Amino acid sequence: MLRLASHACIIVFLTILTQLSGIAWALSRLFRRPLPAFVILYTGLSLAAVWIAPLTGRTALSCFERGPLQVQSWVYCATNRTYVTPELRTVLQEAAATVEAVYPGTQTLVLDGSFPFLTGFPLLPHLSHDDGEKVDLAFYYADATGAYLSGQTRSSFGYFAFEQGSTHCPDQWLSLRWNLAWLQPLWKAYQLEPERNRLLIETLVEEPSIGKIFVELHLQQSLRLADDKIRFQGCRAARHDDHIHIQL
Ligand SMILES: [Zn+2]
Repeated sequence: MLRLASHACIIVFLTILTQLSGIAWALSRLFRRPLPAFVILYTGLSLAAVWIAPLTGRTALSCFERGPLQVQSWVYCATNRTYVTPELRTVLQEAAATVEAVYPGTQTLVLDGSFPFLTGFPLLPHLSHDDGEKVDLAFYYADATGAYLSGQTRSSFGYFAFEQGSTHCPDQWLSLRWNLAWLQPLWKAYQLEPERNRLLIETLVEEPSIGKIFVELHLQQSLRLADDKIRFQGCRAARHDDHIHIQL
């Protein structure tokens, strides 16, 4: 009974993390050597998703593409978290190309998109990333002299390296506004590269199919951004001074 319960917990955890590895775990229990079976089943399901998801409206951003738009880490691909609608993929590719045309050598880095299947299935901890129409982008960073650092982020996966600035949000429990103060000393001491960040966001604002862009208020001010599409996400949602959230 305990064994069954622990497998159920593992299946739930893996499903939350990658959508497909919970199924692979369950099926692997039918094999004599479950661990290698799990690896093979998960790899097979993930590769199958790359082909099947487009039939149901989502497409994977590839970790192998080496253009101006790149996925920040292979971990996002390995966990099936880079799926977006074809329309959003086109928006991303065009925005990255626009920034690259003005600032050659610029890499626009994608973080979490959505899972391959099922509208309404959230990609935690992002509750809204459940339909392929939302995606997060890393900020562009510069070194202490202001020189752009191509393909670099302050934190390992592009999230949780918060820019500090004034906020009206109170510290409160039971919200997704995590400050993670204990993590901050671990990140690289890069600064935001303002010109590229402003150009990217202004390019996305101009895109008719983009509905909302979430950026923390103090960054809207310091980057001199103002448009109805550029919003503050609210005090109960995740901070948006470590990445940019866009949605159709
Ligand atoms: Zn987001």
